[in-house]
Parts: sequence; C-alpha cells; structure tokens
Amino acid sequence: MRERFKILTGNSGDLEEKIFNLILDMGFIVVLLSAVVTCFENLSIFAALTSVVGALLFLITLLVNYYLRKRQLARLMLCYLANCFMLPVVFFTCGGINSGMPLYMIGGLFIIVPTLKGRSRIICMGISTLVHVATIIVSYFYMEGNILGYDPAFNPLAKLSLESRILDMVVSVVLVSIFICITSGLILSAYQRERAGKEKLVARLDDLSKKDELTGLYNRRELFWHMETMSRFWQKHYYVALFDIDLFKSINDNYGHLFGDKALAIIASELWKLCDGEQDEIAARYGGEEFVVLVKGEDDEKAFAKIDGVRKKVEELVWEGHEGLKITISAGMVYCEGYENIEQVLMDADKCLYQAKKEGRNRVIFGGTKDGE
Ligand code: GH3
Ligand code: MG
Ligand code: MG
Repeated sequence: MRERFKILTGNSGDLEEKIFNLILDMGFIVVLLSAVVTCFENLSIFAALTSVVGALLFLITLLVNYYLRKRQLARLMLCYLANCFMLPVVFFTCGGINSGMPLYMIGGLFIIVPTLKGRSRIICMGISTLVHVATIIVSYFYMEGNILGYDPAFNPLAKLSLESRILDMVVSVVLVSIFICITSGLILSAYQRERAGKEKLVARLDDLSKKDELTGLYNRRELFWHMETMSRFWQKHYYVALFDIDLFKSINDNYGHLFGDKALAIIASELWKLCDGEQDEIAARYGGEEFVVLVKGEDDEKAFAKIDGVRKKVEELVWEGHEGLKITISAGMVYCEGYENIEQVLMDADKCLYQAKKEGRNRVIFGGTKDGE
C-alpha cells in the first residue's frame, strides 16, 4: 500500500520514473477538472461526452502505468492519446479556436518533453504539432460551413457566447498554468533531491576511498597523493614523522585484538588532533600500527616539540578497564626541505624510527634534513 502511494505521488523509482508519474498524476487532475467544468459549462452534449471520454482515457493510462506496470506503453499512450486524439476531438466539441483549447495544446506538447527521449520525442513532437496545426486549419473550414456534406442541423461544434468564451479562457489559463508551474516545480525539486542524494553518495565514496576505516585517518594512497601534489611540502617548514606503536604485538596478545583495534583508533585520534588541515598538515595510517604525520613547524625545536608532545600525550593516556597500562609510541622524524620525493623522506624517517626502537622505544629521533644536517 505504501509502495503504491509512493508510486502515485511520483515518489518512487528513478528520477525519470518519478517525473513521468508526476506528469501523469498532474495531467489526470487537470483533465478531470476540465471535464467537470465542461459538464457544468453546459456547452453541448458532445463537449461533455468527449471531455469525460478524455478523462477516462487518462484513467486507463494511469492504470496501465501503475497496475499493469507497462511504463513504456503508458508513456506512448499519454503523449499520443493526448496530442493526436483527445485534444483534436475536444478542440472541435469545446469551442475550438474561440475557446481556451489552444492553451491545452501547449500543455499537451509540454508533456512530451520530459516523458519521451531522443528520436521518439522528436517524432512525437513533430506528429503532435502537425495534428494540432491541422486541427486548427480544419476547424476554420468546418466552422465556416465550407466542408463537404456539412449539415448545420447536426453540428457538433460548440458555439460559445462571449461570456462562455471569457469563462472558458479564464479556466483554461488557470488550469494550464497551474499544470505547467506545479509540474515544472515538482520536476525541479525531484531533480534537486536526486542531486543532493548523489552528492552525498559521492562525498561518502570519496571519504571511503581516502580514509582508513578503523582509525578515520587518511590512507596510504591519499598520503602519497597529498604529498606528491603539494608543492609547498618540499619547501621550508614541513616535517614528516613516522610513528610506530611500541610492542603492539604483546598488547594484542595480552589484551585481545579488539582492545588493540580500540587502542589504534584512540592513538590515531591523538595524531589527528595534531594536524591543521588549513596548513596542509595530514595524518595517515601508513601500515598496520604505523602512522605518518606531516606537520608544519617554524623551526626544528618547535616541530620536534609538536611531535614529541603527541608521544607524551599517548604515554599519559589512561586505558579504560586496564588501569596502570601504558602504551607508548616511537617516531622517526625528518625535515622535508631538500628531498625530491616522498619515498626518500619515508626511508630516512624509517631509519630514525629504527634508531628510536633501538635506543629503548618511547622516543622521537629527529634526523634533520636530507643530508643529516
Ligand atoms: P615494536 O615496538 O618493535 O614495534 O614491536 P611490535 O610488537 O609493535 O612489532 P611490530 O610493529 O612489528 O608489530 C605489529 C603488530 O601490530 C603486529 C600486528 O598483530 C599488529 N597489528 C597490525 N595491524 C593491526 C590492526 O589493525 N589491529 C590490531 N589489533 N593489531 C594490528
Ligand atoms: Mg610496526
Ligand atoms: Mg610496533
């Protein structure tokens, strides 16, 4: 039931389907209203009859679309029935060129554009326009009594008084404008909703492709991309630190892998806090329990203090459920100026990290610039 309501309100399926459903629903409402108005206008029995038949044909198109779910057939029915059959017939019976019918013809052509695609749209547009033009031309001869076998006693053409013409024109202007404005508005908002959804999806995919799932830090691919595309990185004031958690294997063994994952995420968040995106600083998960941080510092001391500060912070963390536990990290750090590529930087940072481990862990070793100055 809910699904059916969604379809009826044009709220299901892809964008094209939603738009078609909207046009169909709105078109049916307009045709139904104009049939009711025509019946009350008391034009002629032909006018009332053809308007009601028009509304019924619309209803059949609705059923073909929603119940038989033959959507392509419903699209063709809507465009061809409305333009090549209903409109010409109702044109003759409801007052022709003297009434608001030409406005309905514009409405009829309007529905083709979002309903059909490519060649099918052009063909339907061409045929419908020809039929409309032919209808208007034929009506001239018919109304003037120039047609062969014309019998004035049996004239299905509505003859409208001035008041009826004005009334009919007013009703037509209102109905056709409402149809075109509401339908275009709804199409636009359906399109905007679809676009907002797609943008969200793209943002999510973008995030998934750049970030590491467990820690939320950038992944290795993004780190390399960021550093390779960032020309400023090779200039002054940028430092790279390669971190590794100390004796992490034994933490996993003693406290379980799940706790290990949690510890990784918490340490990663400390590294994240260190970085200022505005300054192109970045923290990334380089490998299992290894992280790379690119930071800016005015001089070696300040940069070292920044990196060493995060090491101290991690050392002081209190681990819930494991009071007394200390987890420490070590880092190797280099100054980027003079390096030509990221691989060289990381190789030297790794050498410093190795030294930090060798010297007893829980420390940061600064390797200086490329030539160890
Ligand atoms: P060291 O101080 O020399 O670095 O000792 P270590 O035990 O930390 O040695 P190593 O760096 O080689 O150990 C890496 C360990 O990190 C092994 C692996 O089980 C663990 N690890 C890697 N990725 C993950 C992860 O995603 N989750 C958890 N829980 N553990 C991980
Ligand atoms: Mg390691
Ligand atoms: Mg380790």
